[in-house]
Amino acid sequence: MDSLKFLLVILDGVGDRPIPDYGGKTPLEAAFTPHLDALARDGSCGLVDVVEPGMPVGSDIAHLLLFGYDYNRDYPGRGPLEALGIGLAMGQDDIAFRGNFANIDQNMIIIDRRAGRNIPEAKEYIKVINDAIKSLDLGVDVTFKHSTEQRVACLIHGPSLSPRVSSTNPNKNFVPVEECRPLDGSGEARATASIINAITRKIYEVLKDHPLNKSRKERGVPQVNCILFHGPGVMKKIVSLHLKHGIKVAGVTGNGVIRGLCRYLGIDVIPCPGATGTINTNLDAKMDAVEEGLKDHDLVFLHIKATDSSGHDKKPEQKKLFLEDIDRIVGGRILRDIDHSCTTVVITGDHSTPCVVGDHSGDPVPFLMHGPAVIADDVEQFGERACASGYFARFSSRPLMNIILNKLDKLKKFGA
Ligand code: ZN
Ligand code: ZN
Repeated sequence: MDSLKFLLVILDGVGDRPIPDYGGKTPLEAAFTPHLDALARDGSCGLVDVVEPGMPVGSDIAHLLLFGYDYNRDYPGRGPLEALGIGLAMGQDDIAFRGNFANIDQNMIIIDRRAGRNIPEAKEYIKVINDAIKSLDLGVDVTFKHSTEQRVACLIHGPSLSPRVSSTNPNKNFVPVEECRPLDGSGEARATASIINAITRKIYEVLKDHPLNKSRKERGVPQVNCILFHGPGVMKKIVSLHLKHGIKVAGVTGNGVIRGLCRYLGIDVIPCPGATGTINTNLDAKMDAVEEGLKDHDLVFLHIKATDSSGHDKKPEQKKLFLEDIDRIVGGRILRDIDHSCTTVVITGDHSTPCVVGDHSGDPVPFLMHGPAVIADDVEQFGERACASGYFARFSSRPLMNIILNKLDKLKKFGA
């Protein structure tokens, strides 16, 4: 037998609530998922509360918890994860923010907090902004880089900075851009807030009549003349998964923040050009990358994002159809191509994103484990309701890493 392996599949935001059009079934329950159901039938199921029952959580924190890290001690903030995800190296003196391109009017009122989301000129805007910021005498180095759609990362390098500042993004349209404020009495927080406010003003000044915007105006799409900042953070000294547990871990994801989290935790990100983080992602290419990763890693983590986006967009049919794609390609290939004599597979989510809510909720997520040393329970379907009566019952995600390490035979006995 080959060495023991583990495949952890996270379907982002997979959990859901009853949809009236589906007779009260959730999108996962309504979807035709014969492969996932076969894995559930031969495996052990349950329901997972990633934090605690009823508590909604963001994807970045949820994944940090799933990998056994402590939120208070280890979470660096959204900004650093976005920056790492797009290849901006962060030093110990750097602060990173996440930013959104936005469209504002002359009174700084937000017209579109995502500037239409589709911004093919993003890299050109970034160049204009990076050049303009250099002309400000801020006493720090500022670097913007585009991520996906309206998302950007902003890295500020210099002495005496602090991430203890407020967001400028009110998360809604037709209200003013918020001023960045210090969140404590330190000079560092005051200095950082005033840098962000100066950058915000400069970006509007340089972009308000820029030719790039004239062209967008002619095409009838929102102009880009602002960046809204949130998620400030600094790198934290953490122990990598490899050092902590003695296992080699690989990750396959098309999402920038999760890619950043992988790099932060010392997970080898396997390049997968077809992975887009959208419903058009190339699931076959992702499974190719998974199989590649399993050759020389103990644990491979496969992340699939568009289940979550479908929930945010309140599109149950899209979520259901995407879950059927996942079943056919990911479920099918797991059943067919993975060596079940040595590989344990877990399929679960990081939180629920119910289509009726359009955001993350505190509902638990279905969990299934399949593998050589797994006891088959009576659950015959992979779904929220069916999994509730499984072997694992309802549990918090905290022991997940132990469950993984136990199946990899990597845990030492506790006590005599
Ligand atoms: Zn998520
Ligand atoms: Zn989400």
